[in-house]
Amino acid sequence: MRMESDIKLDFKDVLIRPKRSNLSSRKQVSLERTYHFKHSGRSWTGIPIMAANMDGVGTFGIAKELQKHNLFTCLVKSYEPDDFDTTELHPEYVAISTGIGKKDYDRLRRILSAYPDFRFICIDVANGYSEAFGDFVEKVRKDYPDHTIIAGNVVTADMTQELVLRGADIIKVGIGPGSVCTTRIQTGVGYPQLSAIMECADAAHGLGAQIIADGGCTSPGDVAKAFGAGADFVMLGGMFAGHDEGGGHLITETYLTGRYNEAKQQPEYDKKTFVEFYGMSSETAMDKHHGGVADYRSSEGRTVRIPYRGEVQRTIQNILGGLRSTCTYVGAPTLKQLSKCTTFVRVTKQYNDVFEE
Ligand code: 5GP
Repeated sequence: MRMESDIKLDFKDVLIRPKRSNLSSRKQVSLERTYHFKHSGRSWTGIPIMAANMDGVGTFGIAKELQKHNLFTCLVKSYEPDDFDTTELHPEYVAISTGIGKKDYDRLRRILSAYPDFRFICIDVANGYSEAFGDFVEKVRKDYPDHTIIAGNVVTADMTQELVLRGADIIKVGIGPGSVCTTRIQTGVGYPQLSAIMECADAAHGLGAQIIADGGCTSPGDVAKAFGAGADFVMLGGMFAGHDEGGGHLITETYLTGRYNEAKQQPEYDKKTFVEFYGMSSETAMDKHHGGVADYRSSEGRTVRIPYRGEVQRTIQNILGGLRSTCTYVGAPTLKQLSKCTTFVRVTKQYNDVFEE
């Protein structure tokens, strides 16, 4: 056994210190970035925020809304080649996701041969530390030398470097921080997300590669902290869940408000609408996609009901508005400069929650 004693931090452990700035309006802030990818040799320009490849989030509906703002979507693994026919996806703003199984790879190959315009491949497994995963990344790189490959998830510099050297352009970072993830409870494994971002970004940037901060963002402020810590892209699951375009099943519940309606002489009722949201390793997801949880493993995801949130457009505006505001507080005219302008202060309390329920 070994113990690492230096403190590792999460989003909630820090705030961003304001700095003198000559920006007079949020409108002056540009959130677009251009990246050049190490292995594929391609360039990409857009706002580097991504929808996660989760049910209710990485859907065609969400992708079509996000691409209007040049935001990116990693599509769920369950779409088959035929599903793509009628969609109007912009290939610059979507990735085709795959696991490392034979069936997954076969599906990926069929999609990419039917739709050669798609240039992003997202190789996504819960544990990016297995030898088989590295071998798979290397194989996909050989088969698709001009495609941009995203690979993850990992949380340390050594594995970030190894995956880049094996052919990944972009490394996905995060083990256990997700809103519907129970890995840390089930296994005790994980790494505080802010420190993981800082350490993996440093390792990737040294090799000319990029990282995605995946999981754990609960507010636009967390997204800003992820970019401030050095993330090139930020991936969101829970923050993009619960919208019309996710296609989830709506559940409406009637509940007692606790008030009494004098005119009608009866207790007052109200209605709330929810959407079911679940982790991709949850029992719900395994029942849906794999015919149940295999008997040698346990589920590592939760199923929750979240308040229905209407159209995703408003959420996009809210996130981008928050991020622009962060940039004006620290004097960063572009998102590219945000991390250079970021000084984190460690805190024991993030915000005043006196009126929170
Ligand atoms: P969020 O933005 O909701 O906090 O995190 C989204 C990320 O959580 C996803 O991109 C993915 O990496 C991770 N995730 C999704 N489903 C599961 C799951 O069932 N278990 C675990 N451990 N992580 C999950």
